[in-house]
Amino acid sequence: MSNSASSDCLFCRIVAGDIPANRVYEDEFCIGFPDINPQAPTHLLIIPKQHIASTAKSDAKDAALLGSLMSAAAEIARSENLSKGYRIVVNTGDDGGQTVNHLHLHLLGGRHMTWPPG
Ligand code: 5GP
Ligand code: ZN
Repeated sequence: MSNSASSDCLFCRIVAGDIPANRVYEDEFCIGFPDINPQAPTHLLIIPKQHIASTAKSDAKDAALLGSLMSAAAEIARSENLSKGYRIVVNTGDDGGQTVNHLHLHLLGGRHMTWPPG
């Protein structure tokens, strides 16, 4: 998928408000909302408002935006009281297990995470 916003893109539709999501976080660049199929007691998605398909489709001009996503995840983790730790995951492409082609960070917490991931 290209990097232009699309009405076919699920997460672009959430950004636009066409599909409801409980925005636990929002700033100029991104939103955070609960994953519909949580894999941990806390499982939030942080996505850019701008459509970027994946990290594989990002480049140096996106550096500030990528940084703002990570920074937002850290701020959300504090507001969610994940003081014992958490995991940030970015699945990319088929081998990475990416199922929604709009870049997103998973913020997972509230239980002990194992390594290596599946
Ligand atoms: P991926 O597999 O691409 O890394 O992650 C996509 C995530 O989006 C999955 O964890 C899935 O549960 C979540 N998801 C899929 N559709 C929806 C939806 O309509 N609303 C929300 N909140 N999450 C969704
Ligand atoms: Zn999109």
